[in-house]
Amino acid sequence: MSEPQIWELYAIKYGTMPERTRATNLFGLDPHDDAPMPIDYYVWAAVSPQRTIVIDTGFDTSEADRRGRGLLRGVDEGLQTIGIDAGAVEDVIVTHLHWDHIGGEAHFPKARFHLQEKEMHFATGPHMCNHVMNRSFTVDHITRMVRNVFEGRVAYHDGDAQIAPGITVHLVGGHSMGLQFVKVLTKRGWVVVASDVTHFYENIETRTPFPVIYSMGDMIRAYDILEYHAATPGHIVPGHDPLVLDRYPAPDGRLEGIVAKLDETPSA
Ligand SMILES: [Zn+2]
Repeated sequence: MSEPQIWELYAIKYGTMPERTRATNLFGLDPHDDAPMPIDYYVWAAVSPQRTIVIDTGFDTSEADRRGRGLLRGVDEGLQTIGIDAGAVEDVIVTHLHWDHIGGEAHFPKARFHLQEKEMHFATGPHMCNHVMNRSFTVDHITRMVRNVFEGRVAYHDGDAQIAPGITVHLVGGHSMGLQFVKVLTKRGWVVVASDVTHFYENIETRTPFPVIYSMGDMIRAYDILEYHAATPGHIVPGHDPLVLDRYPAPDGRLEGIVAKLDETPSA
């Protein structure tokens, strides 16, 4: 195995749903305790002097309209703000195949997609016969990914794997059968890009899952696994929490509220 290298790491916000509430983000919440709890949508980028690796692809305009989410900027535009040309990216890690993580796949025509075998099995297998299980997936996204398989553009992983020196993926399942999180080695050590292993800080802090569930047991266990891989709770970056942009600095003032620099120490 070659020497690990140090990466810069960014979260780029491209979408939002301000009217979301606590009951839609926290499993089993008493309806009396409901209150606003906006959700944000991010993709992530790890950048070294030699390479750029993008984590997830977001969603596009058609999906935003269909599902009533706010698309603030195309994922390609979001990446452009930090100098990344999505059309030239060669490696995209797909944490899972939910519509808001794979719906921007067309922005990455040159990419190879790093995906867990179990996630493709889930998205094309018997569980998809049921609308409760399939509603977080969009059939066109999945068929496009099947095409990518035949075109040699999918790298399947089964469990833990190294994508590049200093970047590894880790299968946990739970929220989706083949959900994986990503670890990136930065100047402050390994940062855990949790994606939907914990949507919000509150999910992991209170051990209360987000209410889209394949396996509740694996989802709860996955919080322990995130903590095992992180030196401190501040090394875990949730997938959808607006607080990420409050806690981390922007790379420059122009990108305040759009991009968070995750290799810097967070304020909380
Ligand atoms: Zn998801």
